[in-house]
Amino acid sequence: MSYSVNFDSNEVESYMSDYVIVGSGIAGLNASYLAKSYGEVFLLTKDRLFRSNSSLAQGGIACVISQIDSFQSHIEDTIYAGAGLCDREAVEVLVKEAPSNIKRLIDLGINFDKKDGQLELGREGAHSANRIIHAGDYTGKEIINGLISVLDGVKIFEDTLVLDLLVEDNMVKGILAKNLILNQIFIVWAKVVILATGGAGNLFLNTTNPDTSTGDGISLAARQGAVLKDMEFMQFHPTALHGKDGERFLITEAIRGEGGILRNEKGVRFMPFYHKLNELAPRDVVSRAILSEISKSKIDYVYLDVSNIDKSLFKQRFPSIFEKIEKMGIDIEKDYIPVSPAAHYYMGGIATDLNGETTIKGLYACGECACTGVQGANRLASNSLLEGLVFSTRAISDSKKYLNNKIVPSHFHNNDKIDVEIDIDGLKHELRYLMEKNVGIIRSENSLKTMLNWLKLHENILYINADDRAKNELLSLYIVSKYMTMSALLRKESRGSHFRTDYPEENEMYRKHILIRGDEIYFDGQDYSTKIDR
Ligand SMILES: Cc1cc2nc3c(=O)[nH]c(=O)nc-3n(C[C@H](O)[C@H](O)[C@H](O)COP(=O)(O)OP(=O)(O)OC[C@H]3O[C@@H](n4cnc5c(N)ncnc54)[C@H](O)[C@@H]3O)c2cc1C
Repeated sequence: MSYSVNFDSNEVESYMSDYVIVGSGIAGLNASYLAKSYGEVFLLTKDRLFRSNSSLAQGGIACVISQIDSFQSHIEDTIYAGAGLCDREAVEVLVKEAPSNIKRLIDLGINFDKKDGQLELGREGAHSANRIIHAGDYTGKEIINGLISVLDGVKIFEDTLVLDLLVEDNMVKGILAKNLILNQIFIVWAKVVILATGGAGNLFLNTTNPDTSTGDGISLAARQGAVLKDMEFMQFHPTALHGKDGERFLITEAIRGEGGILRNEKGVRFMPFYHKLNELAPRDVVSRAILSEISKSKIDYVYLDVSNIDKSLFKQRFPSIFEKIEKMGIDIEKDYIPVSPAAHYYMGGIATDLNGETTIKGLYACGECACTGVQGANRLASNSLLEGLVFSTRAISDSKKYLNNKIVPSHFHNNDKIDVEIDIDGLKHELRYLMEKNVGIIRSENSLKTMLNWLKLHENILYINADDRAKNELLSLYIVSKYMTMSALLRKESRGSHFRTDYPEENEMYRKHILIRGDEIYFDGQDYSTKIDR
């Protein structure tokens, strides 16, 4: 299953470039901006340039700035949240290289909120200090617009889907892509390829992610034999706005931080029955509590009551959320906001070293599609924009070692795919529905095996000539679902975001990463010493 389409490299148009960067979120844009100083850059993105998870980020970006904060504290908060599976070295890199990267963004003209001339630092769940820099509740948009404005010289291809990686002798040689407007397939031969394709929230029916997050980069790399890591860990956000049209707009934790209260169908505040931190308990605890309340009620959501937060303060601090809620006809002084959990952030992904390089030479992965080891079994809020920023910077720095190589195109071809008409939308819906039901917030051996049986039954998805966006995304969703389910079945314990009713406790024996290469799945032999108990 190494390629997704039939093609012959001798018969398609081709280009050459030092760098191919795939994806236009924070990781891809930052990489493109830095790489253009060292060589020619092709930036390919499957939708419009600004469409990504990054553009939707609300809360902010974590960074130690205050005199009363410390690197040690941010490192420990990250490792504690990661539930024993963070790689300490990677976390140290993330935290210590944050200030210089943030300073660079500010120097580029990106505006974060200030108070008395200093950066205003917010607090989010599980951080022990105020260290979240933000731009209103549209931090992502501010960063993305800022980075897009400095891309002069980069060759940008919007509406261009990367279909396959071209790899020879474990060295990346380029990519096969399709211009979705012109309907044309082409190749870019390159010295360095950087995958910055984001997460995979669309594995589940309910997600805060835009429709671009379908696990493409993970699937592209896996099909060429790159090692994947921590594939069982998906973080669910407890409070997404429960829109009737299926949209799950994120309602940031910061609102619960300001005093928002969760109430069940009967209007009863329920979090005190589940955790001593009430509404600010860890995300997985709040998500499971909400599911438990929903299962006892006749509605498929609970309520967020923000009537105790001053309306003008709410409007000023959370302008996008206020606008969204108001459009739904909700008056926050009188009405409750319907919320439910939704898939939000993927901790698992393509295994990389500290420079973002994967197990394939010249192929880098950064941002949410990568697994650098900083997020462990559960991500600490506001660390993901930071991970995309810090590790894409390191990737460009490291990748210079390939720039003296010569680009020598090879002959690549494939003809094992079948052109068939199948109900792509129907299959995609079924997969997402079953993933939500069986591999979502609550898992068990039975539910995971049910999912694996469905995947086995629909193995034909792997053999379809996936030459358009819908088919190619279905293929990626299929592959990532399979690896997530296999890993979740192997992890016979509950840890971080992974919860199993048949193994509800954490088990020290399982404090190991699960790795995948092809259809081989195994525990990493390394010993991890990064657990912090509080
Ligand atoms: C609603 C919401 C709020 C969030 N709030 C925060 C926050 O406050 N702080 C924080 O730290 N994190 C937050 N996160 C998480 C954070 O936004 C993401 O983890 C991060 O932005 C990922 O960045 P990225 O560059 O890796 O990927 P993305 O920003 O998702 O970009 C991926 C890009 O790859 C492109 N792409 C994908 N597949 C292909 C393909 N086959 N070919 C070509 N292009 C492709 C996509 O079109 C997209 O441009 C939030 C996430 C969401 C959804």
